[in-house]
Amino acid sequence: MKNTIKKYIEKRNFEVTNEPWGSISKEKKRNIFVIQRHLSRIAHYDFRLEINGVLKSWAIPKEIPLKQGEKRLAIQVEDHPIEYAEFHGKIPKGNYGAGIVETWDKGYYKLKKQTPNQIEINLKGKKAKGNYALIRTQFNKNKNSWLLIKTKD
Ligand code: MN
Repeated sequence: MKNTIKKYIEKRNFEVTNEPWGSISKEKKRNIFVIQRHLSRIAHYDFRLEINGVLKSWAIPKEIPLKQGEKRLAIQVEDHPIEYAEFHGKIPKGNYGAGIVETWDKGYYKLKKQTPNQIEINLKGKKAKGNYALIRTQFNKNKNSWLLIKTKD
């Protein structure tokens, strides 16, 4: 997975939005994860994992799976800077993602396996805990389409 925050920067007007400007982090990796509730035109959750100096990001239209075996569609979106894990607040009207961003859960994760089509992790959050897998779906041509699955602990 190539890391870039070019798209993130291009989509936003930093003179108007309070979202963080950012660059790819060179700091030692901390394995942060964050799940944000994003009340925009279509309310959804944003699931973000720190990987190689950026937050790899997926938009999840439904509730975060908490029980073993539950799975949710997760659409991969543009990489976000690490600083975004700290962001919450209002994105003003007329801007990309306009609406409210709230922190739903946050913590650290342990990477168990990573291939181009599969990421297995153990989340150490307050609400999202234990083993999860992100698997790129094969059934459609949209390469951004993944499933977030609560797997066996
Ligand atoms: Mn979002």
